[in-house]
Amino acid sequence: HATKKTMADHLRRLESLFTLTPQRMRMIVEAFKEALETGLEKNDQVVPMIPTYVFGWPTSKEQGDFLALDLGGTNLRVCLVTVQGNGQFELTQSKYRLTEEQKQDDGQKLFDFCAECLKTFIESNFSGENEVKAPAKLPLGFTFSYPCSQAKIDHGVLIRWTKGFGAPNTEGNDVAAMFRKSLEKYQLPVTLTALINDTTGTLLASHYVNPKTKIAVIFGTGCNAAYMERVENIPKISKLGIDPSSEMAINCEWGAFDSFEHEHLPRTKYDTIVDESSNKPGEQAFEKLISGRYLGEILRLVICELIDDGVLFLGQNTYKLEVAYCFDTAFLSLMESDPTDELLMIIGIFSHFFAVETTLAERQFFRALAKLIGKRAARLSACGIAAIVSKMGYLDEGCLVGADGSLYNKYPGFPDRVHEGLVDIFGDKGRNILTCRAEDGSGVGSAIIAAMTKVRK
Ligand code: ADP
Repeated sequence: HATKKTMADHLRRLESLFTLTPQRMRMIVEAFKEALETGLEKNDQVVPMIPTYVFGWPTSKEQGDFLALDLGGTNLRVCLVTVQGNGQFELTQSKYRLTEEQKQDDGQKLFDFCAECLKTFIESNFSGENEVKAPAKLPLGFTFSYPCSQAKIDHGVLIRWTKGFGAPNTEGNDVAAMFRKSLEKYQLPVTLTALINDTTGTLLASHYVNPKTKIAVIFGTGCNAAYMERVENIPKISKLGIDPSSEMAINCEWGAFDSFEHEHLPRTKYDTIVDESSNKPGEQAFEKLISGRYLGEILRLVICELIDDGVLFLGQNTYKLEVAYCFDTAFLSLMESDPTDELLMIIGIFSHFFAVETTLAERQFFRALAKLIGKRAARLSACGIAAIVSKMGYLDEGCLVGADGSLYNKYPGFPDRVHEGLVDIFGDKGRNILTCRAEDGSGVGSAIIAAMTKVRK
């Protein structure tokens, strides 16, 4: 009985740490808006606001066969996309898992692995009957979702790795050139025509399917957003002589919001530990509170603290829970969606993966904790979306936000919590802003951008 009371006390404390009031959210939105503006004005700002050299929306007349290779945080995907016009497309894809070692291995080796997977894909999709269909050189869109500075669409210098990657000899280099080298090494019949961020791809793909889309957000291993900006509002590229009335997609790299300064976001001591023990302390401050890579770890750190305080798992050996990043964010999804009164799913997670028994009170506590962490992530995401909406004046007219990533697609109630957050920020008008799932956004987007580039050339 005493244990239960202590847990309830802890829960109250954690509730106040992780809860975001509407007022606090509005303050974050204001600071966020300012950071977006500053990023457009000058180079090397906290939120980089990267010009993508993707000009304007697709016409929906784009057509053709395109390859897309997507180096995400967890998987490598290769797609063959047939863009058919009028919002239609067909897609064939294969997924290849990346190991933690590959993420830290030499950069050129990482790109060689990408080329190898592409080779396997091409061989299995363009052999036999289909062989005649393969043109001499297929256009390839490379979705590379790490901050790159670009001066044109088929080139990009990696600013810094994010999402746990650390492959040496890559930061500061043109990753498109590195990948071309690997493509040559494996003698692949492709031409790399565009280097794209997954958010930009998702933006264009979602707009191709539904023209009401104005913003795209990814909620996966990392968290990032893109939107379409008028060139006249991007002062830092005014010298390039681009028609000021034209539009260009901006890859916000908003995961970096509040990095280093740590002035605006409500960080708990658990967030500080996540940050300080990460391979990039200080960086990606916003992302570290939101994305799939970190939510499980935040929950694990709370659990570990309460084990040390003698509140949880009394008398049990908890060494399996003491391994950093052992608690996947997918477990939070499972805990929140457990439909049984006894919380049988949670029993299973802890006994099967961590070899510990749980009491019902502990399980209820874990579920409540998952909810606090998941809800905070969704409400902070709403702040970012609200900043773009408010900056661009989309509130009255309303717009769609194309969204993708496992956190958005699989975490129960995540989209609803984002929508509630938008209403908390904007009042009733917040209902004019709706997120919707972008199917295969980055692959299709990459193909559409490759097609747009072809049309323009
Ligand atoms: P990526 O961003 O790497 O391209 P995903 O969108 O699949 O790929 O995101 C992977 C991240 O999503 C991982 O951090 C993983 O922990 C998390 N994740 C996977 N499944 C779920 C789930 N069911 N609920 C919440 N998060 C999940």
